[in-house]
Amino acid sequence: MPEGRIVKALSGFYYVQTTDDLFQCKGRGVFRKKNITPLVGDFVSFDIREEKEGYITEIKPRTNELIRPPIANITQAIIVSSAIMPEFSTTLLDRFLVLIEAKGITPIIFISKTDLLTKEQLDTLKNYQADYVSIGYHVELFSAKVPQDMDRIKGYLKDQVTVIAGQSGVGKSSFINTISPDALIKTADISKSLGRGKHTTRHVELIEVNDGLVADTPGFSALDFSEIEAEELMNCFPEIRELKEHCKFRGCLHAKEPKCAVKEAEENDIIPKYRYKHYISFLEEIQTRKPRY
Ligand code: GDP
Ligand code: ZN
Repeated sequence: MPEGRIVKALSGFYYVQTTDDLFQCKGRGVFRKKNITPLVGDFVSFDIREEKEGYITEIKPRTNELIRPPIANITQAIIVSSAIMPEFSTTLLDRFLVLIEAKGITPIIFISKTDLLTKEQLDTLKNYQADYVSIGYHVELFSAKVPQDMDRIKGYLKDQVTVIAGQSGVGKSSFINTISPDALIKTADISKSLGRGKHTTRHVELIEVNDGLVADTPGFSALDFSEIEAEELMNCFPEIRELKEHCKFRGCLHAKEPKCAVKEAEENDIIPKYRYKHYISFLEEIQTRKPRY
């Protein structure tokens, strides 16, 4: 039975890419009855009916899935943060990082609009870059107006399924257009289209860019932690994850507990103070959120 990956969903059809061909497929009734909806990014088996048409018969297990955009099996997310306009914010960056880590997706940090910085501002930014690199993240300073090191930057996309994340206006579309002038990422401000009552049926597509696939719709537009538990949060901070074994108490949340290795590392400037501060404020946000029904 042929197998492939769904690269586009539109009007009830799923477009399945195999090694050499694209097939227009329908889901089978059995999925609807079981409440399983095929997603863009799914690996599927299908039955060929007509020359380039078929029926999806099986969806392979997913490594992860997003609701917005509805997409599965993402391997990495590029977080675009602007250096300026809007102002660079480690709080916002850390929010994106946590949400992406929680999905088991590898984050890569791109800081855009570096052409607009003064020498002093660039130096400050490079200090932040060094902090995040020391945590283990890839961090690229980037300008869509004066693109440099494009081979290395394009290299990130190869063999990956990438979702671009970042608030509106940071330069997500400019970034993609710099990498691949014919792959237009949707520019629509997601937060606007999420207003209540508005229907959000958008078609989603994975576009081939530089031997990889990139979602044409930005991801991680909802920045709340409603799906993350307090005990999980520490695992979304690699530097905390690494230290937690050394805390005195099992189940230490690294907040007010005594003999906490994370707190000690923060006091000794081994982990950045602002990262720890964000951890605590996210933890409080999770602990005080209203229960969901
Ligand atoms: P998006 O909403 O994240 O897709 O952001 P856009 O790509 O639409 O960019 C928002 C604005 O910032 C546009 O006016 C872009 O021309 C501008 N912009 C994006 N990247 C850069 C950059 O690297 N340097 C400068 N100077 N402007 C940029
Ligand atoms: Zn601790």
